[in-house]
Amino acid sequence: MYPSFDLTKELFMPQYDHTCKKCKKNCDSKSYDKDTYKRMGRCYHCQMHFEEDLKFMKIGKWGNKWQFWVKLQQLRRWESIDREVEQFVFNGSLKMCSSR
Ligand SMILES: [Zn+2]
Repeated sequence: MYPSFDLTKELFMPQYDHTCKKCKKNCDSKSYDKDTYKRMGRCYHCQMHFEEDLKFMKIGKWGNKWQFWVKLQQLRRWESIDREVEQFVFNGSLKMCSSR
């Protein structure tokens, strides 16, 4: 019998440690845990508590740490896009050099 598509994917995909960095729970079984883990390295519940905690940490009169955290995530997203573009440009110029 041929291996199913999923098994082939399993074999060729690199193995990652999918345990939440806070409660050490395995984040593979639930899809929402998996999604949150991919972004934050935490299970869904730990991430929720983390954000709740940030909301209670006040900065100044109107702000809290959560607002800053959200800003930081947005900045990080842009940073990773920048890096992708950089890599694209870098790889492109490498190809040009080797063809000479
Ligand atoms: Zn957790």
